[in-house]
Amino acid sequence: MRQNVTGKDEPPGTAGARPRYRGRFAPSPTGPLHFGSLIAAVGSFLQARAQQGDWLVRIEDIDPPREAPGAADDILRTLERLGLHWDGAVLYQSARAEAYDSAIDKLQALGALYPCSCSRQEIADSSVRGIDGLIYPGTCRGGAAPARRASALRVRTDATPVRFEDRWQGTVECNLARDMGDFVVRRADGYFAYQLAVVVDDAAQQVTEVVRGADLLLSTPRQIHLARLLGLPIPRHAHLPVAVNAGGEKLSKQTGARAIADAPALPLLRAALRFLGQEIPADDGADDIGEFWRVAVAHWRPERVPGVRTLPV
Ligand code: GLU
Repeated sequence: MRQNVTGKDEPPGTAGARPRYRGRFAPSPTGPLHFGSLIAAVGSFLQARAQQGDWLVRIEDIDPPREAPGAADDILRTLERLGLHWDGAVLYQSARAEAYDSAIDKLQALGALYPCSCSRQEIADSSVRGIDGLIYPGTCRGGAAPARRASALRVRTDATPVRFEDRWQGTVECNLARDMGDFVVRRADGYFAYQLAVVVDDAAQQVTEVVRGADLLLSTPRQIHLARLLGLPIPRHAHLPVAVNAGGEKLSKQTGARAIADAPALPLLRAALRFLGQEIPADDGADDIGEFWRVAVAHWRPERVPGVRTLPV
């Protein structure tokens, strides 16, 4: 499905029946921004700005054990330095526990959740591998063994196919019960799962299109399932190719991606545009970041983004 992405005939605020475009960049503060996460920032920024839309930044700090001290501020400083200016206040997921709790309550009231006291080892021993990790075999569906240990909360899935049209990856269809199984919305340690928080926040922030890396493509059916149960609007989805190293591994702190905090801005941004299949005019603004972005926005052609899940850098 291709969308009209220029929006040029609709000045801001007069979009009629179509809501104003709102995109977002939602990094987890596990380390500094690297080339892989920069791609998601640049792709979501251009897609929003080319439609005179809003671009929001959300810091997904709901998993303290995985966070690096100072990483959130570091990411924000790097975005500013690169001229990636966001709209409104940054939303921190660590401040959103109440909203996630009320989503959990709503799911509980629907009978959609059950406590699960399986350990990682038990799950590993009893599960088969699916398209995106282990498929939970439903051991606790009929009731967890009482008070064995702290329980996670899982949401029931069913065999109704979940289908969506991704802007770049095409049609994705998934049978959650068969392909992924019942999944965790609140962990045994009390932290909320990414799948839940992202759905609650995309709706609260009125995000109209989720642009992010294709490493999260298979999270989308789970998020659509939750949004449907919670009666929340489902945004459009657009998954960008993920930058991988020569060994085919996703660039991340773990695979040694060099932080970009000190790299010169314009060569870095031009490399990101090339990665996204954009043709960059020779006179893209030379040394001025503001002019660089004006030209990049005017020349943004989403149809040129490669419709593949990974690309080497
Ligand atoms: N916080 C997630 C990450 O950094 C991205 C979440 C999203 O864009 O939905 O991988």
